[in-house]
Amino acid sequence: MRALCLPLMLLGLGLAGLASAQAVSTPTVPDAARFDALIDEIERGDRVITGASEVHATIARLAALQPVDDAHRELRLRGFRCDYEDLDPPSTGLAFARAGLADAQRLGDTGAQIRFGLCEAAYLEAAGQIAEATTPTEAALALARAHAEPRLLAQALGRRGNQRSLRGQQAAALTDFLEAQRVYRAGGLKREAEANLHEVAIAYRRMGEHDKALDYLQQSVAFAQREARWGVLAVSLIQTAFVHQDHGHYDRALAAQRRAAQVATAHGLGYELAAAHLGMAAAQVQLGAFDDAADALVTAREGFAGFGDRSNEGMLQLLQGQVMAGRGDHTAALTHYRASARAFAADPNPRYQTELYAARARSHEALGNYRAALDDLKLERNGREQGYDGARIQQSLLLQYQFDTARRELENTRLLAEQRSQQQELEAIGRANRWQMAALATGGLLLALLLALLWRQLRRLRRINALALTDALTGVANRRHIEAAAVGAVAAARRRDRPLAVLTFDLDRFKGINDGHGHAHGDLVLMRVVRACESELRQNDLLGRIGGEEFVVLCPDTPLAQAKRVAERLRASVERIDLSDIAPGLRVTVSVGLSLLRADDNGLADVMARADAALYRAKVAGRNRVEVEVEVEVEVEVEVEVEFEAEA
Ligand code: GH3
Ligand code: MG
Ligand code: MG
Repeated sequence: MRALCLPLMLLGLGLAGLASAQAVSTPTVPDAARFDALIDEIERGDRVITGASEVHATIARLAALQPVDDAHRELRLRGFRCDYEDLDPPSTGLAFARAGLADAQRLGDTGAQIRFGLCEAAYLEAAGQIAEATTPTEAALALARAHAEPRLLAQALGRRGNQRSLRGQQAAALTDFLEAQRVYRAGGLKREAEANLHEVAIAYRRMGEHDKALDYLQQSVAFAQREARWGVLAVSLIQTAFVHQDHGHYDRALAAQRRAAQVATAHGLGYELAAAHLGMAAAQVQLGAFDDAADALVTAREGFAGFGDRSNEGMLQLLQGQVMAGRGDHTAALTHYRASARAFAADPNPRYQTELYAARARSHEALGNYRAALDDLKLERNGREQGYDGARIQQSLLLQYQFDTARRELENTRLLAEQRSQQQELEAIGRANRWQMAALATGGLLLALLLALLWRQLRRLRRINALALTDALTGVANRRHIEAAAVGAVAAARRRDRPLAVLTFDLDRFKGINDGHGHAHGDLVLMRVVRACESELRQNDLLGRIGGEEFVVLCPDTPLAQAKRVAERLRASVERIDLSDIAPGLRVTVSVGLSLLRADDNGLADVMARADAALYRAKVAGRNRVEVEVEVEVEVEVEVEVEFEAEA
């Protein structure tokens, strides 16, 4: 529901602002340290601020603590006000943000520049100037990236995600929210990361990815309950209800809206209360509880009016019309539908307009206006088709982003590994030098030791990140990584109409090696097999370990003849591995199965099933050989013949 975006946004700005109050005592004298401590505490989310009165008390205290003629702290206080004070109308807030930005630039205060830039963008969004909000947002984002400021960077990403979502670019929005999530987590900002969960959920819901949306919403609800973030809780429940409503689970939707309304009532959240009642009415209309829906609409209308909010008018009128239609008064219903159509014309919402056409068609039909009913049904069908196509395009865009990201991550891992070994060498040289220094100054040694420890700690952290996608023994992609990458690879192959080859291979009589030479030597063999295979693959191929001694290779852009050559190269290079240090004359071989993605495959599992069948045939036929899936083998023979003729 688009109308919820403004309060959501303010909620996002005041991340900290929604739980129980802590008294702000009256200050006495200026004190820079206490000024910094208080404002840091708020930014970290360790101190939460509820309601306008506490915002004002905090501003007064900060103003009293701020040393005179301290331009940077004065700017920091103004930045705080820009984020927390609800400067109304938006034009006032905009002027305030722009003045702050100019001063921040003059003082060369990067943090303040980012804050005021984002604040300017937020007020432009509030004024409905979404396109204009792009410029300050991108500028703040670039600054935050350049200065590696995790919190501000994630806030900037969230801001841009919000704008992209409002402009219908759901896939791009989602990548921003997901990146913000990663930045928060990498920066150790767990609480902000969790508060960001419902943004991710909403973006998934707008793309029609209902299961993912529900998953994130559940996490968000759990977080909000644990941390007593009542605003986040209410909004997450309302969003949960929308997902149920989209699924046609109206009773679940109603239950979730009721819970949201309870939370909003208990914690004085007027806007969320109105929104929950609007949602309740939508569910009740579907359940045929028209009197309850009428009551809920009264509460919703009064609530929104209290905030001077007209943005839900289209929806209110649509639901009121549906209540009248439900009671059999179709003439009255049409009056409400006309008001609803007017409101949507001023503030379009394609999804709800489509619903309006369907409802209006039913009332026209009931009154015998078949011509008008037919026109509305056509409008409804167009709306649905566009919505469906839109969601599909967004979904495939997302897959493309995810695939590109996985690929980039893989390359980064490789680079990191190279870098790491170089750095280890440097470190070894450095250690030798440090010993010499230690003879001169013990203090120097201590420092060196501390640095080495710190370095080790950093390396360990980096390794933990890599572990989630990497097989611990061999260092290649694990099953999870392969499955994720396959989604993108399949989509890319289809989009570009390029072949995707899949190889699976399994070590031959590996049990014998384990039994004869011990499990540890078995592990060593596995590692050598992986190294041998890696040297035969191209940059774009992805090798992964999917079982104990079973592997898969995804080869994008690889037609059958070429894939056969790759498979043969793999087989031959394993055969050549020197294992004489384990036992004289010891050899290892692999059997390889090969298949190509087909138009009617559902995904990796289907292609792999055929590759596995081919692999099985390779085993039966004596091992240490390559077999191709049955049906395409015919094509190969044809290809070979053609080649032969050409040569002749
Ligand atoms: P074939 O595949 O040729 O039919 O014979 P095989 O002997 O390889 O048969 P199978 O696939 O049944 O045996 C796989 C063996 O791989 C069994 C298991 O002990 C061993 N294995 C699985 N994972 C690991 C591992 O991580 N390290 C070691 N050393 N051995 C493993
Ligand atoms: Mg096996
Ligand atoms: Mg085996």
